[in-house]
Amino acid sequence: MTVAKASASAKASGSAKTSGRSKGGAGAKTARATASSGARTPGATTKAARSRKGSGATSPGGSSSSGARAAGASSVRVVFLGGLGEIGRNCACIEVDGRILVLDVGIMFPDPDMPGVDLVLPDFTYLRENADRVDGVILTHGHEDHTGGLAYLLRDFPVDVYGSELTLGLARSRVDEAGMASRANFIPVRDHERRRIGPCDVEFIPVTHSVPHAFATAFHTPQGIILHSGDFKIDLHPVDGRRTDLARMGALASDPGIRLLLVDSTNAEEPGFTASESSVGASLEKIFLARPDRRFVVTCFASHIHRVQQVVDAAIGQGRVVATLGRSMQKNFALARKLDLLHIADSALVDIEDVDNYPPGRVCVVSTGSQGEPMSALSRLATGENRFFKLHPDDVVLISAHPIPGNEWSVGRVIDSLHRLGVEVIHSGVENVHVSGHAKQGELAMLMSVTQPEFLIPVHGEYRHMANQVRLAASMDIDGERVLLCEDGDAVRLDDSGLHRDGNEPGGYLFVDGSSVGDIGHGVLRDRMVLAEEGVVMAVATVDLKQGEVVGTPQIVTRGWAYDQDTDALLDEARTQVTRALEQALSSGNSDHETLNRVARKALGKLVGERTRQRPMIVPVIVTV
Ligand SMILES: [Zn+2]
Ligand SMILES: [Zn+2]
Repeated sequence: MTVAKASASAKASGSAKTSGRSKGGAGAKTARATASSGARTPGATTKAARSRKGSGATSPGGSSSSGARAAGASSVRVVFLGGLGEIGRNCACIEVDGRILVLDVGIMFPDPDMPGVDLVLPDFTYLRENADRVDGVILTHGHEDHTGGLAYLLRDFPVDVYGSELTLGLARSRVDEAGMASRANFIPVRDHERRRIGPCDVEFIPVTHSVPHAFATAFHTPQGIILHSGDFKIDLHPVDGRRTDLARMGALASDPGIRLLLVDSTNAEEPGFTASESSVGASLEKIFLARPDRRFVVTCFASHIHRVQQVVDAAIGQGRVVATLGRSMQKNFALARKLDLLHIADSALVDIEDVDNYPPGRVCVVSTGSQGEPMSALSRLATGENRFFKLHPDDVVLISAHPIPGNEWSVGRVIDSLHRLGVEVIHSGVENVHVSGHAKQGELAMLMSVTQPEFLIPVHGEYRHMANQVRLAASMDIDGERVLLCEDGDAVRLDDSGLHRDGNEPGGYLFVDGSSVGDIGHGVLRDRMVLAEEGVVMAVATVDLKQGEVVGTPQIVTRGWAYDQDTDALLDEARTQVTRALEQALSSGNSDHETLNRVARKALGKLVGERTRQRPMIVPVIVTV
């Protein structure tokens, strides 16, 4: 891996792609303009790189694909509404001849600095304003960071939704719960299917991932093929034998050529290759075999059907029965069995309420809660609150998953609670019980080598992941002007002359809190953070406007704010200062509500800040009579 060299090369080619993170600030626009002009006028580095590609292309387009395109073909616009700058809320729009196809509509789980937020969605403003031009939503696979936002988009307008049968089944769950099913027309598509959707042919290419039946998506546009990798890894021994179809991608690369590759960046920082999913099966068997008389509770993502299959196989292979715990595990078990994707005999399945009737060595419970979610089945087991059965010190809990960034603390807390019960806990930190679903550098390089894209845009990642993808691309001679590092809200245009930046659309966070969608802004979150970190100090005062005086003594009320030394003296002084500030304002003729609030807040805030070095939220409540 020549990352260092690649990095230098990316810099040398004048790339402004590593411009600071921005959501449309003026500085960012300048940086973007530079990158854009870079894309329009390929320099010597680019030409050299293209000749190294060995595609034999001599056309100015630099790829055999340009030969297949009609001269003057209409341009194609791609808008990124989410997923470029975070793991989550993936959503992109492909626009051809004024029509829009939406690729994925995902959610993101909130960061610690978003207190009280349940979910984060892509900003749907652009889609809502152009709803009449939307011809369909394509779901690449069934993970919630790709499908979870659909129920919310459907509130804005009804739409046709395409995806594999399993993907649609998984996506349906949230849509049904939201009562939006009648607004979605679910259209299943098969592996290798090429189907006209709105303005262009869309081809569904199998890829391996941590949920079955995931797709890479090839858009056959007037500007050539746009290939979106989807979430993928190159697993040569997948549990179901359905491999990432590199052969088809290679065929498209040679005829007509791949104009633009959008590629999963999640593991672009990780060297090497992601291990095969089937390697987990062997390890599970060993772990079961070493503990023949112990009861197992295994937790993993409920949508990870292949992991579930391997757990089930290991358990049943050693004479155990299987019970499911947790609503999504039960639902997905049923869905996957119905679609013939999960194979388990009826005789091996027992009800969770009956597990105590079996000797410990004859039972395996497959549970949700691998992310430490507080209300999940595993968390409830850990705190002894599960109503179906209790864990015994002899039990083994196997966490066959890795915490998604942000969940480490919750998972750690559940593991601690389990240890307190005396339970043995096996997780990915101590045994090989989990592999990633995303391609590492070796596989990403392989994909670039197979697809030989003329242009590349990293997707699906935090900024650092995408920046590493750029470096990796440079090491594969796809450097400088042929790679654009985009962020949420960015738009690009692909035309006969190349790939250009094309302005922005609203790409910010849309917060969901309970049933409220979009009512919470950054101001509310800032307030919540201040309240959480510093508490609140309120001054309640009554003012007689006619007499121009403060009635009685203001009350000072505090919550979540602690100042132990001389608090009483400080509060006394606060009352005096607030009274004085209000009276001064009144005597100078400033008796409007806004001014009275402002002077009271200022007086109280100044005093608290100076005496305590703390910055609680200051709330004046002025009642006028
Ligand atoms: Zn995924
Ligand atoms: Zn994803």
